[in-house]
Amino acid sequence: MKLYNTLSRQIEEFVPLDPSLVKLYTCGPTVYDYTHIGHLRKYTMDDVLVRTLRHTGYEVKFVRNVTDVGHLASDADTGEDKMEKSAKKYGGTAWEIAQKFEDYFHYSLDLMNNLRPNVTARATESVPYQLDLVKKLEEKGYTYVIPEDGVYFDTSKLPNYGKLARLNIEGLEEGARIEKVVGKRHPADFALWKFERPGENRAMVWESPWHQRSFPGWHIECSAISMEHLGDQLDIHTGGFDHIPVHHTNEIAQSEAITGRKPFVRFWVHHNFLLVDGQKMSKSLNNFYTIDDLLKKEYDPMAFRLLLLSAHYRSEMNFTWENMEGAQVSWEKLVDRIQGFLETKGQAPEPTEAQLAAVENYRHRFFGQIEHDLKTPEALAVMWDLVGGSNVTDEQKYHLLLEFDEVLGLGLAKIHEVEPVEVPTEIQQLLDQRQVAREKQDWQSADTLRQQIEKAGFQVIDEASGEQRVKKQ
Ligand code: AMP
Ligand code: ZN
Repeated sequence: MKLYNTLSRQIEEFVPLDPSLVKLYTCGPTVYDYTHIGHLRKYTMDDVLVRTLRHTGYEVKFVRNVTDVGHLASDADTGEDKMEKSAKKYGGTAWEIAQKFEDYFHYSLDLMNNLRPNVTARATESVPYQLDLVKKLEEKGYTYVIPEDGVYFDTSKLPNYGKLARLNIEGLEEGARIEKVVGKRHPADFALWKFERPGENRAMVWESPWHQRSFPGWHIECSAISMEHLGDQLDIHTGGFDHIPVHHTNEIAQSEAITGRKPFVRFWVHHNFLLVDGQKMSKSLNNFYTIDDLLKKEYDPMAFRLLLLSAHYRSEMNFTWENMEGAQVSWEKLVDRIQGFLETKGQAPEPTEAQLAAVENYRHRFFGQIEHDLKTPEALAVMWDLVGGSNVTDEQKYHLLLEFDEVLGLGLAKIHEVEPVEVPTEIQQLLDQRQVAREKQDWQSADTLRQQIEKAGFQVIDEASGEQRVKKQ
């Protein structure tokens, strides 16, 4: 298995530290608004990664957090609390908002056929562990307190701070990347723990050694949850591109400061964005669609999954309704072909040596692409080759598709054979006339006849063999 590692900016051979278990962590959602299809891109590609590792033979422990505590609206440590802001928008308390949108996140991912992680951990439930880490960092001399503001991490104490993003620390200035916080010793320093401001009256606060009413900074929860469930060193950590310069950079700083600079993560895997009209789809820009928007237009979530698989996870992908329509057509074609394979399954004689070798060749090509940094577009091309191929039996195609689906996750095993349709005599007559028209290459009449058949509630499918088949619409 080969994976692109953001740390080295190279594709490397992936080998876990402990050969019997891959330790994988990903940053979960901040549950202050609806999960949108941009998130679904990221989490679906995580799912493909986990499925691929498992298919390769690894046991994977997959941990994901849920950011249900209100961290601040900017990547820096200033601005309004997202959860409190959303509570004002939607009504209810910050706690209720977090629960509502966490439920929506799981609902959306389940519809996308994503496997649940081995551990899903809420930030609010790991507060004591987070507090412990901050105390340890304080004991080790990595922190300082800004009165009435918070406990800050002193990045100058860590010689390789910023290695992931290859940040030019000397040249960093407050402004573009970092907002100004009075009292910070260096622009890159960040909050580990924050204090409630006088008169603020926040819904989510905890007692800490530094302040009666305080709350964790954003980055500490990921260090805490990943280390609590996976130990000091992770094999793979994933997240969106946007997390490289601040969030992941700070996770590394915290964790490596605690463990005495043992490399926290061996492989950093970062996902590119789903765009809409050329801009990142995001909650803050309010330019997003949810899974329910797709369902309302009668698109199948698996058609959307097929669309996602058609782009490499490190490439940008622009969402358009035209592409979605195209993916739906492809999905229906795939379902239809599978139903066809199910119908003829068992009718062909035992596969020949040549057919067995052909299957092996498809398998080799497909997994060769997937195991090379998850080249899903190329793997899909192999899948379509197989679907249309004439060198293997339908039964072989069906079984191999199910094997491919162990990593694609399209739920192909749930597709059932269609009930045989009773074709009324008048429809059969139209079909016979259409067959004659097609043989004469009279496409205009064939088309008119198709429309007549469709009006009567039947869909005509032209098989590759030249035969016609009908389905109830
Ligand atoms: P958030 O809830 O905003 O923290 O986002 C959760 C995850 O989804 C992060 O890893 C983000 O990088 C990722 N994400 C957010 N928006 C998009 C998008 N438009 N396309 C792909 N990934 C996204
Ligand atoms: Zn994180």
